[in-house]
Amino acid sequence: MTRWIGESLYENDPKVGYQQRFRADKVLFEEKTEHQDLIIFENAFFGRVMALDGVIQTTDKDEFIYHEMISHVPIFAHGNVKNVLIIGGGDGGVLREVLRHKDVDCTMVEIDASVVEMSKQYFPSHSAGAFENPRCNLVIADGLKFVKETMDRFDVIIVDSTDPIGPGEVLFTSEFYADCHRCLSMGGILVTQNGVPFFQGEEVSVTQERMSPHYLDMSFYVVAVPTYVGGFMTLAWASDNESLRKLSLEDVRSRFDASGLDTHYYSPEVHIGAFGLPRYIQKLLK
Ligand code: SAM
Repeated sequence: MTRWIGESLYENDPKVGYQQRFRADKVLFEEKTEHQDLIIFENAFFGRVMALDGVIQTTDKDEFIYHEMISHVPIFAHGNVKNVLIIGGGDGGVLREVLRHKDVDCTMVEIDASVVEMSKQYFPSHSAGAFENPRCNLVIADGLKFVKETMDRFDVIIVDSTDPIGPGEVLFTSEFYADCHRCLSMGGILVTQNGVPFFQGEEVSVTQERMSPHYLDMSFYVVAVPTYVGGFMTLAWASDNESLRKLSLEDVRSRFDASGLDTHYYSPEVHIGAFGLPRYIQKLLK
């Protein structure tokens, strides 16, 4: 009997009633972890797919789009990154992209050890050996607690979290954004996964309200990820260095060329263009 796996994000929402579904050609892992329901299955087109609490997290087919944009935009914008903090990111895709920058050390704080273990086993190309890299410091802990207590300072903080439900809810609070500001080095950058405004418009307005009081500059950039249905996903951006969001194409290009990185989605043009927000998203902002 063919099994179809549907995403619950908008299915039961009385204001929406919409669902993306995948044919699960083979279910590889399905278990309730200490923190959430984790399922990993194979689909003929998307390859391996992971869902947490009924919400699609990543697929083999389109992961590069999201992982390149949430990693390279802040790192190339900053221009002199030595130390990165990832909150969440258990599948290892962001870690992979961050460690492609040769001079960067990275601390990754993930709450659910099972997501890391199962991702190493079933999504080896996501991390591509990054968990074994000596520049990686993996900490299994709650991100909120970590940013409240750490004495380290980071040039870039990347929050690759689940949606604001379950363990991820605390990562969308004013308290968390204030503690991230405390952990940033002078002129550092915070970037956070912030939902798909076509369906989750409120998440943009609420994040602006909660994040902007703690930073001199706060905005969003966008990326379209096929399995994060609804068009553009927003990535929130915050820094006390207002010039970093307004770099010229030439500036970004010279940093990109100097890095020698080959990418599959990210480019200096896409970087600059991503901060151009469509009107329906601009209208969500105060
Ligand atoms: N890219 C995906 C997205 O945009 O929906 C997110 C992928 S990643 C797998 C999300 C990770 O955030 C999960 O591994 C989850 O365990 C982790 N996470 C959720 N809440 C957390 C918390 N409070 N502290 C640290 N990690 C957390």
